[in-house]
Amino acid sequence: MEGRPLREECGVFGVFGVEKAAANVLVGLSALQHRGQEGCGVAVLEQTGRIAVRKGLGLVSQVFPRDAYREHAGCFAIGHVRYGTSGGGELDNVQPFVFHRNPYDFAVVHNGNIVNTEELKIELERMGTLFRSSSDSEILGHLVHVLSTGKEGLTAHSLKRALNLIDGAFSFLVLTPDRLYACRDKYGFRPLSIARLGDGFAVGSETCALHAIGAHGIRDILPGEVVEIGPHGIASSFFATEHRNALCAMEYIYFARPDSDIEGVNVHAYRVESGKILFRESPVEADMVFGVPDSGLSGAIGYSRASGLPLETGLIKNFYVGRTFIQPNQSLRMTGVRMKLTPVPSVVKGKRVVVLDDSIVRGTTSRQIVRMLRDAGAAEIHLRITSAPLRHPCYYGVDISTEAELISARMDVDGVCRYIGADSLAFLSEAGMLEAGRRTDLCMACFNGRYPTALYSHGED
Ligand code: SF4
Repeated sequence: MEGRPLREECGVFGVFGVEKAAANVLVGLSALQHRGQEGCGVAVLEQTGRIAVRKGLGLVSQVFPRDAYREHAGCFAIGHVRYGTSGGGELDNVQPFVFHRNPYDFAVVHNGNIVNTEELKIELERMGTLFRSSSDSEILGHLVHVLSTGKEGLTAHSLKRALNLIDGAFSFLVLTPDRLYACRDKYGFRPLSIARLGDGFAVGSETCALHAIGAHGIRDILPGEVVEIGPHGIASSFFATEHRNALCAMEYIYFARPDSDIEGVNVHAYRVESGKILFRESPVEADMVFGVPDSGLSGAIGYSRASGLPLETGLIKNFYVGRTFIQPNQSLRMTGVRMKLTPVPSVVKGKRVVVLDDSIVRGTTSRQIVRMLRDAGAAEIHLRITSAPLRHPCYYGVDISTEAELISARMDVDGVCRYIGADSLAFLSEAGMLEAGRRTDLCMACFNGRYPTALYSHGED
């Protein structure tokens, strides 16, 4: 990904029925840090039956001291890492959200983006609801409250009724004094998995986080499924009768960690496969192949294996500079790329190189990379992208907000190639994106404009 300009909305993690649950949640959140760096928080059930929340702006290691929760014996906790594509970056929007309601508290964390937020907010405000944040994630808690009877509070029944009113992308965890609910939207946009941990359970956005705390017996939570974890074990049911397997393609291509498995496919293996298919679709005569670190590396392995071209290290990443997306304007962003990526002149000099990257957003970073490789003496530069051209906005929790920022929405492949200055450019086909994961369905709306949901107010001019 060029300069990581795309950002994922969030990661969620929860532990139920295991001592030192909050400390385990912090380990899980640290493993999910790539999904959000703006803020993070943990909600833990206290002995009093109250749910206490601690949250802040920044990385897990910045918000929580090393010994945070080390002595906290509580067995029930959920947590969240945030990059907000909906709502602002202020503390009010950092999750978990705790709802102090009769007869008991409950806490909510959310990964994704709700597309009918405006419609639901208008209705809830008409009924007297006061929102504390500008985040769409608060909606579930208010809906559940409105739909619950005073005596019972939140139940699986009221939760499912609320989920049925929400449209869009969501993986929710909901913690009550004696239950943890894990819910995935009926399209399955965002990944969510559950596993055994000691005598209890853990749930998380990615399996890498479940492995990090030693959980085992991992399985995906299915689109439209609600898993209720309680004192007597777990119960599975579905809130929606119709569901799809429209996982966000970008999870495989770019967002998820290579050591995570999503719906039976390892993310690294998906990327290797996409590199192989890309060679089959767009071969080129060259001397070597290498990837743009990090998410182009696995694709380069696949392209190298399929082509027989040697796999090299032609670009080095400096891990200790800030991410380019932090730079607020174009010229600073260009400087940022040079600080972050460096060609290896002794490797590329005089060589015809194939460079694998996962996507092209604005085109500015690819252009910089090509320029740097030419300056380092590369004879020919052939760019291969392990996804289709990005042409449409995303409404499901990834900050591709306008077509204007997408170079492939304005130019065809030849035009993009000329702009970035490569000798050739090719993208993976949509069929190749499906084939790499042995899938028949994925959300690919930012590539082809076919949105799995209605767009509500997002679709208006
Ligand atoms: S539109 Fe693109 S980024 Fe958004 S969920 Fe679909 S595939 Fe993912």
